Amino acid sequence: MPHPPRQSLQVAAVQSLQGRPAAVVPKPRVPAREEDGPWHADAVCRRDEAGLFFAPSKEPTAARLSREDAAKRLCARCPVMVACREHALIQPEPYGVWGGLTAAERRVVLARRRRRAGELREAS
Ligand code: SF4
Repeated sequence: MPHPPRQSLQVAAVQSLQGRPAAVVPKPRVPAREEDGPWHADAVCRRDEAGLFFAPSKEPTAARLSREDAAKRLCARCPVMVACREHALIQPEPYGVWGGLTAAERRVVLARRRRRAGELREAS
């Protein structure tokens, strides 16, 4: 399904999920702020299938893993992967694949960052 120009896949995914149970509907992405830079404009996922990045309701595990792998392959060739990943970590974005990481993987990264920050505070 082609998306209108200038619309990110993530926004399209949110719109496609509206009407589904609240537990699987990600919060709408906030519009890019000036200080975030124009990374949305170069996102590879703007041209691909919206459903790839967010789980449908009651998705079987094998289907989820396959979908997430496909999303990560797109992220791996995306020129704004680092900016997208940092955005998803800083927000934080609770659902979907962003910057090549699933929500669970982002939670691990954030936990490591918190632990590292704590260790640095103790060391100083
Ligand atoms: S890194 Fe992935 S989720 Fe982020 S903009 Fe690129 S393709 Fe989309």
